[in-house]
Amino acid sequence: MRYFDLHCDTVTECWEKDCRLAENSLQVDLRRTQGWEAYVQCYAVWLPDHLHGEAAFARFCAVADRFSQEIERNPEGMAQYPAFAAAEAFSGCQGILTVENAAALGGKVENLLEFVRRGVKLCTLTWNGENELGRGVRAPGSGGLTDFGRQAVQALEENGIFIDLSHASPELFWDAVRLARKPVFATHSNAQALCSHPRNLTASQFEAVRDSGGLVGLNLYTAFLNDDPARASVDDLLRHADYFLNQGGENTLAFGADWDGAPPEDFPIPGLEGLPELRERFGQEFGKTVAEKIFFENAASFFENHL
Ligand SMILES: [Zn+2]
Repeated sequence: MRYFDLHCDTVTECWEKDCRLAENSLQVDLRRTQGWEAYVQCYAVWLPDHLHGEAAFARFCAVADRFSQEIERNPEGMAQYPAFAAAEAFSGCQGILTVENAAALGGKVENLLEFVRRGVKLCTLTWNGENELGRGVRAPGSGGLTDFGRQAVQALEENGIFIDLSHASPELFWDAVRLARKPVFATHSNAQALCSHPRNLTASQFEAVRDSGGLVGLNLYTAFLNDDPARASVDDLLRHADYFLNQGGENTLAFGADWDGAPPEDFPIPGLEGLPELRERFGQEFGKTVAEKIFFENAASFFENHL
């Protein structure tokens, strides 16, 4: 079993609930991946929309500290994907630090140096609300990137941190796509054609990410799988994957399951322990080669080629 996931909130939860990454009652713990050939997980430092300025930057530092502590203490041999080293092949258990909500910059581009020092590789511009960079998908009003947002996008890219457009409002999304010089991501978003939630991607948004050379991560949260979340199932996940594959997404599609971003009952499988069976289903539906690309290879080759 090899699995590479572009987005979870588990380290933020470990910080909030003071539990361990190695073993816990969340959706992700390392104990559940024993025997897997490779497990690479992007761990987001998530910031709620009310945090701004110094308070936001301090929250980023606190949760990022927790990530470092979990890596130092964990007995399962997890390593952080190197902050500075050149690209290397993925194997075993590795964690990548990411940011969900660039309010974490505290409104200062120079705080980016702390992102770099700590090895952040991906950063969403917003969460659902408004911050110094622009508006998330739930924020009232209109407008794309602010002046600070433009500065931040350029500085993030220049410092080797890729832009993640999950949660962006449509205007922010397109402004960022026009400005970006590197591949852009939507780490945890599904297809609006199949589930109309505004967090999902339109066909043209998916094409923009695909054509930039970035990745789209399939999200397992039921509200993004089916317009009636109570009826959402693994079949819906397969439908979203099939749709993206038909949009030319064979080399673009990955997972960004959103583990621990919502209660486990709002997912069609309870946590990591459900993945080997899901991998079988994907293999039956799309063939082993494509399933392996979605579960691991697309994301692994992106990072091997770009970092
Ligand atoms: Zn999210």
